[in-house]
Amino acid sequence: MTIPAPICPPKRILMGPGPSDIDPRVLAAMAAPTVGHLDPYFLQTMDEIRSMLREVFQTSNDLTLSVSGTGSSGMETCVVNLVEPGDKVVICKNGVFGMRMADVAERAGAEVTTIEKGFSEIFSADEVAEVVDRIKPKLVGIVHAETSTGAWQPLEEISKVVHDGGALLLADCVTSLGGVLVKVDEWGLDAVYSGTQKCLSCPPCLAPVTFSPRAVEVINARQTKVASWYLDMTMVRNYWGEDRAYHHTAPINSNYGLHEALRLILEEGLENRFARHMRNHKALKAGLAALGIQYSVPEGQQLPMLNSVLIPDGVDDAATRKQLLTEFGIEIGAGLGPVKGKTWRIGLMGAASCEQNVVYFLAALERCLSGQGIAVDAGAGVAAANGVYSAS
Ligand SMILES: *Cc1c(COP(=O)(O)O)cnc(C)c1O
Repeated sequence: MTIPAPICPPKRILMGPGPSDIDPRVLAAMAAPTVGHLDPYFLQTMDEIRSMLREVFQTSNDLTLSVSGTGSSGMETCVVNLVEPGDKVVICKNGVFGMRMADVAERAGAEVTTIEKGFSEIFSADEVAEVVDRIKPKLVGIVHAETSTGAWQPLEEISKVVHDGGALLLADCVTSLGGVLVKVDEWGLDAVYSGTQKCLSCPPCLAPVTFSPRAVEVINARQTKVASWYLDMTMVRNYWGEDRAYHHTAPINSNYGLHEALRLILEEGLENRFARHMRNHKALKAGLAALGIQYSVPEGQQLPMLNSVLIPDGVDDAATRKQLLTEFGIEIGAGLGPVKGKTWRIGLMGAASCEQNVVYFLAALERCLSGQGIAVDAGAGVAAANGVYSAS
């Protein structure tokens, strides 16, 4: 065979639903020499990752670590460790990731009840209380930031009704962690997973997870073995804990990357980081409104890092995304599931949430739209965004 050319990816601005742009410091950390998975240097790195993850999750949970795998492996880890065959589980489904969680729970042998909402809607605490009362589940699963719809689900009230019903609350914080407030302890979340490739701005590789003491009790009281050998926290925690017992070889360099990504977050400060995400979201929203583009999610429930907007009438979805990518190097996301072809998902996650990206994207989008003969007020998008920046 002819040997393919070496990897040399095109320059992109990742403004889709993930992965997001990566800070060069994270990539540099990942290129550092690999050491052994039991090397004292790596053991120290693991301890530091755990401490930094506790800060970012705002928790004192002992069982906090990064699972070897993408965000979905975090989902699977939480489910398979808490669920035994026949357990009753309630999953809140209002998008693709709630659907995935229900599938994972079924595969783990749970008796799954779902409550469903339209794409772009969120659940009220009363709706969750009703089903918890009726089903009396062991676990309730919900998505904090539904990346498929751009809807922002409040968790505090729901956590109360779930606990009043004697159940544990499992929260998907893959897209929310590092972009908006996630308070694991204060909100009483029992099992939380995230992923490195969204607002943590690290390549897709690891899934930070954290389990409350109540969740750990449930794991310790299991009657059956965890259905997944690889994701079994009763073994994995011995490698991340005092014993340092070999389980599987941790992805060393991926953990270097996460270590640097977490350092970047703590350097910036959580509050500053959330404010940055909100400011860029507001500027983007003002710019899009000036171009005649509306959000698919009601005001007050819109995620700052995942802007799901309705594609205006007469605009060619695929052609616009293609032009953004090939002419401007900008990736945005298409709609998923029932909103395929109807929405765009514009990510402003982690390092990608910056003024340069907002202003450049609005200018590029205007070019795409006017090229298709859509009437837009020249320069209005950028001007509206600049207005938000100069006012704040
Ligand atoms: C991206 C995402 C996942 C899955 O993460 P992968 O890294 O793609 O495995 C799960 N839940 C939500 C809300 C996500 O946005």
